[in-house]
Amino acid sequence: MSKPSIAILGLGIMGAGMARRLLAANFPLAVYNRNREKSVPFGADGAFVASSPREAASRAQIVLSMVSDDSASRNVWLGENGALTSAAANSLLIESSTLSVGWIQELAAKAAERQCQFLDAPVTGTKPHAESGQLLFLVGGSADALDAARSVFSVLGRDVVHLGPTGSGALMKLVNNFLCGVQTASFGEAMSLVDAGGLDRTKAISILNGGAPGSGILKRIADRMAANDFSPTFALRWMAKDVTYALADASARGVSLQTASAALSVLQQAIAQGHGDEDFAAVTKLSK
Ligand code: NAP
Repeated sequence: MSKPSIAILGLGIMGAGMARRLLAANFPLAVYNRNREKSVPFGADGAFVASSPREAASRAQIVLSMVSDDSASRNVWLGENGALTSAAANSLLIESSTLSVGWIQELAAKAAERQCQFLDAPVTGTKPHAESGQLLFLVGGSADALDAARSVFSVLGRDVVHLGPTGSGALMKLVNNFLCGVQTASFGEAMSLVDAGGLDRTKAISILNGGAPGSGILKRIADRMAANDFSPTFALRWMAKDVTYALADASARGVSLQTASAALSVLQQAIAQGHGDEDFAAVTKLSK
């Protein structure tokens, strides 16, 4: 069976890894990135470099967006030269960025107006998982649309969970990242207390990660601290964005996420201190 043509919108940390996987698997690929320089290496390796989301989508049966936030997503889908202006009827549109459920619902309605299929399919996993096809897709939308996406998800991911109708994948991702954000912020504060009390960070981290608090996320932060490497695989500002979306969504449903509010203020403090573009592990550099 011939492979569907794909357009990837967004060649940041995650989108670049995903595009590389699709190229390696010989999918006909068009790429679009706002900053065109990031597209150039993909063009050299056989992708069509589109000058707009509209041009990318006009060449694709499946369009997948992997951009930063609601505003970026709105821009690539609904902007003047957005993908929805050219997406063919019956094409499949996949939004894999971590976004608010409200925006996903709005976008899905616009896709339906164009007679396109739509999935929200955010992912867990980070840069190395995107590069090695080990993402986990959290999917909202119809079973038919998911079936149409499987050939792509099987190259990009280790598994797919169908959570329910449109918005379910987005909501699950916000729940996931709310927990990650709270643990990250509390670890940052824990390091402040360790420092203030004159304890040794290395010993403290070994005790914490060897004991009950030692979660996957804390171990990942500790690894980055040990390597003194805060180059972003997941930028701190995007973690704050996700906690913000989780808070807004919970509030709209009458749920109070008190720990998320506290975590957000810690993450915002780290951003104010200049760490927003670093990896979220930089929360441990927080100064009082
Ligand atoms: P990133 O490296 O910062 O890349 C962001 C992408 O969005 C870039 O391609 C950027 O284009 C584009 N963009 C930003 N504003 C835009 C706008 N107004 N119009 C058009 N394009 C715009 O981010 P990332 O780490 O790849 O994350 C992408 C998404 O995946 C986010 O929603 C994030 O929360 C989610 N996510 C990330 C990870 C992770 O570990 N990194 C894991 C799971 C989910 P330019 O290059 O022109 O700036």
